[in-house]
Amino acid sequence: MSISNELVNRYPWLPSLKKYYNDIGEKPPVEFIAEIFNSPDNHQIAERVLNIFKAAFDNLEEIPNYQIDNLNVYVYLLLKIILYALNNKLITNRIANLYSKNAYSDMERENNESDIYEISHDLGLKINYYDPPIEYGLKIVKDHREPRRTNFTIHYIDYLRLASNLRDEYRKLTNNTLINGFVFVQNKTLIRLIQEYVRNKLLIEETDDKASLKAFIKEVSRIQGFKDLYDKILSLWVERKEDFDFTFKIDIKSKEELLTLYPPCVLEVLKKAEEGQNLAHHERLYIVWFLLALEYPVENVINIFSTLPDFDREQTTYQVEYAKRKNYTPYQCSTLKSLGLCMAEKYKDELCLTGYGSKDPTERKLLKHPLAYVRIKQYRTEKEEEYLKNLAKRKLEEPKNQND
Ligand code: SF4
Repeated sequence: MSISNELVNRYPWLPSLKKYYNDIGEKPPVEFIAEIFNSPDNHQIAERVLNIFKAAFDNLEEIPNYQIDNLNVYVYLLLKIILYALNNKLITNRIANLYSKNAYSDMERENNESDIYEISHDLGLKINYYDPPIEYGLKIVKDHREPRRTNFTIHYIDYLRLASNLRDEYRKLTNNTLINGFVFVQNKTLIRLIQEYVRNKLLIEETDDKASLKAFIKEVSRIQGFKDLYDKILSLWVERKEDFDFTFKIDIKSKEELLTLYPPCVLEVLKKAEEGQNLAHHERLYIVWFLLALEYPVENVINIFSTLPDFDREQTTYQVEYAKRKNYTPYQCSTLKSLGLCMAEKYKDELCLTGYGSKDPTERKLLKHPLAYVRIKQYRTEKEEEYLKNLAKRKLEEPKNQND
């Protein structure tokens, strides 16, 4: 079965790219870049790539004015080369999330089952297509029962491979219908799995071989068009990278304050979100309940999730607002430990590891709740400030007392 050229242009991450654009695949990257920037379309390709970076740095959920034509292939390949050259995990995650979300939205909008089947086939997924849709169980909402139907089943090995990084409970294999080794998936779920494939295609590992990277950048920077584009992206990044810092999103006065007041288990989840990594179900619940307990505004809590690959603003808003209404108490330390979310050891945090209270280690109390961590830290900071104030006051009074 052969996939159409049009689909490859639309979704250049498809394996069939190699078949249709064999000539590109065999060229060394430097030669490919030189060819792009000598072509009459060079400005347009560079603009489109820059547009993707701008959208990612602005934390948009879709690429504005995204065009689907044969230049798309060049945009995609150039994007990957620039990500390699930038060698920055934060940027790579942002681009991978945005680009894959864009692909998801496009496939969902098109909602063309035959395209989805062709795409899945090209990706080597073992899937079955049913037309008309096949029934596989019941959906029960209150007293209302309706049959579940789908056009697709996917082999459980492929399902597991693609869903391994998707942390939602409902995507676990045990929560899905599995018959004869095939999982019944709704069209939307299959598209979501494909999105995960696209995201992984763009997740280039940071390289430790800095010498080769430097030599590569030096070589490609001789191509003026590439150098101009690369420099523009770098200066955009310098301007915007502060905004990537979660301290701004959650509206705390300074990074120092956040680092000293928050326990390691919270910092770890915020760090993952900042890097655009997927969060496990319990990590999501924990961070929402914790921040809401500290009365962070709902909007700021929602924005923390905006960097995640499967972010859906409407759904997240509903979930955060619901949690706010329910006033849930965040997990206590024992629960976080059993969930593997306690980071006391990793961060070598003294308060978490040795507790508080007396100087005598045998009388020290162990921390039971992460909110207690914040209170103790706040108390200590206030005491320290008071002490420093009194010390300064005493110093000011000393010469005066000596003169008396
Ligand atoms: S001891 Fe408690 S507050 Fe500290 S990292 Fe572990 S779970 Fe978090």
